[in-house]
Amino acid sequence: MRITALAGGVGGARFLRGLRSHLDATPELADAELTVIGNTGDDLSLFGLRVCPDLDTLVYTLGGGIHEEQGWGRADESHRVQGELAAYGAVPQWFALGDLDFGTHIVRSQWLGQGLSLSEVTARLAERWGLPERRITLLPMSDSPVETHVVIEDGDAHRAVHFQEWWVRMQAKVPAQRFQAVGMDRATAAPGVLDAIRQADVVLLPPSNPVVSIGIILGVPGVRDALRGTTAPVVGVSPLIGGMPVRGHADACLAAIGVECTAAAVAGLYEDFLDGWLVSQEDAASVRLRRAQVRGRPLLMTDRAAAAEIAGAALELALELRTA
Ligand code: GDP
Ligand code: CA
Repeated sequence: MRITALAGGVGGARFLRGLRSHLDATPELADAELTVIGNTGDDLSLFGLRVCPDLDTLVYTLGGGIHEEQGWGRADESHRVQGELAAYGAVPQWFALGDLDFGTHIVRSQWLGQGLSLSEVTARLAERWGLPERRITLLPMSDSPVETHVVIEDGDAHRAVHFQEWWVRMQAKVPAQRFQAVGMDRATAAPGVLDAIRQADVVLLPPSNPVVSIGIILGVPGVRDALRGTTAPVVGVSPLIGGMPVRGHADACLAAIGVECTAAAVAGLYEDFLDGWLVSQEDAASVRLRRAQVRGRPLLMTDRAAAAEIAGAALELALELRTA
């Protein structure tokens, strides 16, 4: 079986780690191939290095190197390099980069500089973390740089800042007017991305941020059409529980695009291709969708076992829809 998922960072990675362990623990599913299409709209250049926060969160989580409580960055991390940069007055200082993490950004930047594509670089990073042997292929959504910028009000004027500056430095507290995916007009899907959707047996949308993670991937030319056209059932998991994001500021992102912060409204963003929608138990009664089948479950990924159970439920719904 071929399963394809679109994913942002922490929410996507925890769900997909759960999915992989659910597959591995189920004899008839253990040989399933998982292809993950990662958001690269969060990518940015810092200190001359290319940083890909969502791809790195996916690699570290699926490869066993993640800082578990934080959800991003490396376990057993130190911050000596960043301290040294601060001593030189190098900016920005608001984006935390650990020493081990720096290693990833250095080698990625070196390989990109040698002319490798982001797909090729990501495959090398994934190899080191053992993803291929766990039957996981990680693809960036695009090899062309795409950066999500946020238009905010600044006095009487508007100005755009990088998504990470809004999210990390401003904590999404400055109201966003809109998001711009800079570079998307020139972007194409990375090799394998569209085929992974078209040729999948099941497509899953983890509970990633619907605007700045999934929404950005959906903007890559061809992705949305591939989702509409695929014969595979497309099943999503709500990132909202009781109308609130579990962590992060998805509420602020939804407000910026004029969408209500409810599980039903998020499903509305996927209306043209969504076949199944897993929502939190308490939201189930309030979600009625025209096309997609709705199912209520506990959706809090409190630990790996809980994430595996949620992923199993999403897959079960997809398999039911496939045979229906
Ligand atoms: P990011 O790129 O690190 O922000 O991660 P994602 O975009 O992949 O995921 C962020 C979303 O995951 C947020 O909107 C959260 O509400 C959602 N999320 C995080 N933990 C959980 C959880 O335990 N259950 C559910 N249903 N959603 C979660
Ligand atoms: Ca992200």
